[in-house]
Amino acid sequence: MNAVSSSAGTWRYAPVRDPRLLPIVEKVEAGERLTFEEGLVLYHTPDYNTLMRLANRVRERKHGSKTYFVHSLRLEFTNICYVGCTFCAFAARKGEARAWDYSVEEVIAKVREKWEPGLTELHMSSGHHPNRPWSYYPQMVRALNENFPGIQVKAFTAAEIEHLSKISKKPTLEVLRELKEAGLVALPGGGAEIFAERVRKQIAKNKVKAEKWLQIHREAHSLGLRTNATMLYGHIETLEERLDHMDRLRRLQDETGGFYSFIPLAFQPDANALAFNLGKTEFTTGLDDLRNLAVARLYLDNFDHIKGYWVMISSDLVQVSLDWGVSDIDGTIIEEHIAHAAGATSPLGLSRQKMVQLIQAAGRIPVERDALYNELRVFEAPIASGNRAPRAAAH
Ligand code: SF4
Repeated sequence: MNAVSSSAGTWRYAPVRDPRLLPIVEKVEAGERLTFEEGLVLYHTPDYNTLMRLANRVRERKHGSKTYFVHSLRLEFTNICYVGCTFCAFAARKGEARAWDYSVEEVIAKVREKWEPGLTELHMSSGHHPNRPWSYYPQMVRALNENFPGIQVKAFTAAEIEHLSKISKKPTLEVLRELKEAGLVALPGGGAEIFAERVRKQIAKNKVKAEKWLQIHREAHSLGLRTNATMLYGHIETLEERLDHMDRLRRLQDETGGFYSFIPLAFQPDANALAFNLGKTEFTTGLDDLRNLAVARLYLDNFDHIKGYWVMISSDLVQVSLDWGVSDIDGTIIEEHIAHAAGATSPLGLSRQKMVQLIQAAGRIPVERDALYNELRVFEAPIASGNRAPRAAAH
């Protein structure tokens, strides 16, 4: 049996099958930062068991058994978009039968229709609409805050912020400042995709450039707006490019400390040009998803949370991921369109009770948070009988 002599029992009683992991085990035990090369070892090692235990070690050091979720509503105010990302099955052209484009009044009516007691977060990201004037956006945020006191509006990816900068002819910093004044509290992490230029050219060539994405988040952090970060994986990117993506985020987080969470998004292989061109019909495998989450947990040592996005990897796998570094499983969502347009087979939303059951069934402690990661309620005791997680087919 391999053992790390300087560490506690955790590692002594389980074999580390891949000797390349031994120095990494030492570093993780010592709380030291991993290098790029060590990150690659994590991506290549066949020793899944040690990888899982390492990620879990860091997760439990940061959060113990606590697992966070938010009671949230997701709303896409338009799917009209001119950008043309090849992985996207959500966007529509103006005039298409499946296009929608809500006025401020319609946004308010939609939220009212979907409202549930205890809702705290409204998560909005949408297409880049070619004609809506800049004034629409702060008006919408203001109207949401006025109509739903206490709701936290988390909205507009960095890609959308760049679009708003173009249509308003204002610098992105000013766009962010005005949206914050209107009541925006945080930014979602979308639009990051993969930072590597080689890949970006093929999957999102008209979208915000990597450096600009990072700059917008830097600016948001400078205004006190906290943000999240995503990475779209499982298409044409290499493992080096995934790690490069995380590396750039780690450096910005060192600089600002403004990210809440990192959210890997598994590519959905349906109804989009990229999947068609690649002849791809398979989803990412469970092991790829779990490995990716574990690598993120170990590499992004300065991020509080790695989020398992159940919409894309299923609520079943999210339960397992709680042992692979994940400490946040996003939210109830209530209704989701973007991933489902591209083939996601998960339910459109999960109830608050089901989120709690899902976490408890995995032996963890559910913590309901708000959009700003304030802890609202810790569920120490089971809230309902039964220990099975909800299955997609049951909804
Ligand atoms: S991913 Fe976003 S920006 Fe790209 S085409 Fe789809 S809606 Fe537009």
